[in-house]
Amino acid sequence: METLDDGSCPDAIDRRFLPTPPSDAGGRRPGWVRMDFHMHTYGSGDAVTTIEEFEDAVEAAGLDVVCVTDHNAVHVAQTLSADLDVRVVVGSEIKTREGELIGLFLDERISFGLPSGECARRIREQGGLVYVPHPIGPRNHAMGETAMDALLAEGLLDAVEVFNSRNPSEAHNRAAGTYATRRGLPGGSGSDAHYPDEIGAAWLELPDFDGPDDLIASMADAVVVGERHPPSRSAWRPRIIPPSA
Ligand SMILES: [Zn+2]
Repeated sequence: METLDDGSCPDAIDRRFLPTPPSDAGGRRPGWVRMDFHMHTYGSGDAVTTIEEFEDAVEAAGLDVVCVTDHNAVHVAQTLSADLDVRVVVGSEIKTREGELIGLFLDERISFGLPSGECARRIREQGGLVYVPHPIGPRNHAMGETAMDALLAEGLLDAVEVFNSRNPSEAHNRAAGTYATRRGLPGGSGSDAHYPDEIGAAWLELPDFDGPDDLIASMADAVVVGERHPPSRSAWRPRIIPPSA
């Protein structure tokens, strides 16, 4: 049986979840968009990207739709949504007791530290989608299969991140893709950018959509584009944020 470089079996994973490097992505298909599901700005305590830097990097990367998912905050995402020419989905990466959840299409900030089921219900109350970032692996705050299965059993899980550029090993992305394949869940892809030069490392290519429900329908045909960041690019570097940010 064919095996991938990391020893996993390709038949267990939907091939649409296996990433094409951005340099090989080619031209955009008519009617399709490029969407990064997971990005941070200075609105996150551990990221520094200013509004101007974000805008320039998104334009340079050629992204059409960007999900701004600051940790436990939505204020910068709301500002970007009003000010940028590119389409912005207001989101937030929220710490729950079982691990991190991303809410997409949010109107308001959601408190951190809730049980994951309660957090997911609050996302849905706002008309948002429940999306699990870096779902499997050694990273802090990875939710894991047991907690995701509990959300699924309550009908509170919409999609999972099958590619994250910051995952330390490709095996963690494959494990997420295998989980999504087994459960029949849509898969998303994101740079998890904390610095401007990480923007453009990953996105999902999918037919254009209008709103949360249509996005989920579109994801059935989507393909993953992405590469993992070299570790040096993910190293923490102190910076001064200009007052104009
Ligand atoms: Zn993140």
